[in-house]
Amino acid sequence: GATIGILGGGQLGRMLSVAAARLGFKTCIFEPAGDCPASHVANFHMQADYDDTDALTRFAQSCDVITFEFENIPTAALDTIEALRPIHPPRAALATSQDRLTEKAFLQGLGLTTAPFADITDAASLDAAIATIGTPAILKTRRMGYDGKGQARIMTPADAATALADMNGQPAILEGFVDFTHEVSVIAARGQDGAVACFDPGQNVHHSGILHTTTVPATLTPTQRTDAILIAARILNALDYVGVLGVELFVTPKALIVNEIAPRVHNSGHWTQNGCAIDQFEQHIRAVAGWPLGDGSRHSNVTMENLIGDDVDRIPLIAKEPASLHLYGKPQARPGRKMGHVNRVTGPAT
Ligand code: ATP
Ligand code: MG
Ligand code: MG
Repeated sequence: GATIGILGGGQLGRMLSVAAARLGFKTCIFEPAGDCPASHVANFHMQADYDDTDALTRFAQSCDVITFEFENIPTAALDTIEALRPIHPPRAALATSQDRLTEKAFLQGLGLTTAPFADITDAASLDAAIATIGTPAILKTRRMGYDGKGQARIMTPADAATALADMNGQPAILEGFVDFTHEVSVIAARGQDGAVACFDPGQNVHHSGILHTTTVPATLTPTQRTDAILIAARILNALDYVGVLGVELFVTPKALIVNEIAPRVHNSGHWTQNGCAIDQFEQHIRAVAGWPLGDGSRHSNVTMENLIGDDVDRIPLIAKEPASLHLYGKPQARPGRKMGHVNRVTGPAT
């Protein structure tokens, strides 16, 4: 059978490997860390650094097609791989989503609504942006931020200096604070034939910047639900995308505002494992392998809860619930570390 290469060996790479195995593929992960979640289930683990061109070359040569589970892959590594094997999703999607400024400009260029934003290079540009955008606002590093890291709230203009210091000299953007009622995300897929299939939007609750729960169905009017899916489809088509993409949206009474996109399977799509016949991981593998997309329609109502850090202490109790536990095999629980998740089916789809 064909071998699918996966850059990154975290829980997303692990669950992609499981889905690939079910479809008869082998997987090879590329991951610098040794004892990583995906290494326990993949067929091969190329343990090397992203600047090791020889290892990248051998990795690519051992695979038929390459995908990834995180967006901050060094460009030079992608150059090496792309010369040898196809990479899905496309690099344009990576480049767009790696940088919040590029990402917001791309989204606005599609006619979509984002939070007001400005490029911040120094104290003067921050003061000017605060004067235009107003407060409250959020200063975010342009690159590398996840789980709310690299962000500083600016409640009044007096907070500007400390917020800028929090960026540690990294390029940043200022975003106006969106007064949303709730957050939803669309997990969307596009096949190599251009077919698009979106999972039903999920409603997300964050605790201290980290996703806590995703619930389907989300509270949306029929119009909002359609709009959310059309927004995701427009993004997929604009990027000539192949694979699964996560689109995070803020819901306000007036509009759906695009927060950010992730060119990969997404934490807020884990509910699909127990809510759909074909989950986001299988859908991604199907797209990457050039298969037709599967039926991602939702058969159940589900709430996904992330198990983070100390939450592992509750696993013995959760194991007694009529719920599906998904654990990532990480050796040590640390504060903020995603250890697993539990999907609670709450009834047939409504
Ligand atoms: P992720 O782990 O989803 O990649 P991240 O570190 O990239 O997170 P964001 O998604 O930008 O961060 O922000 C995290 C959360 O902070 C959002 O889900 C939302 O709750 C809040 N937030 C971010 N930007 C804004 C904004 N402009 N207005 C209001 N709330 C915001
Ligand atoms: Mg993000
Ligand atoms: Mg986010």
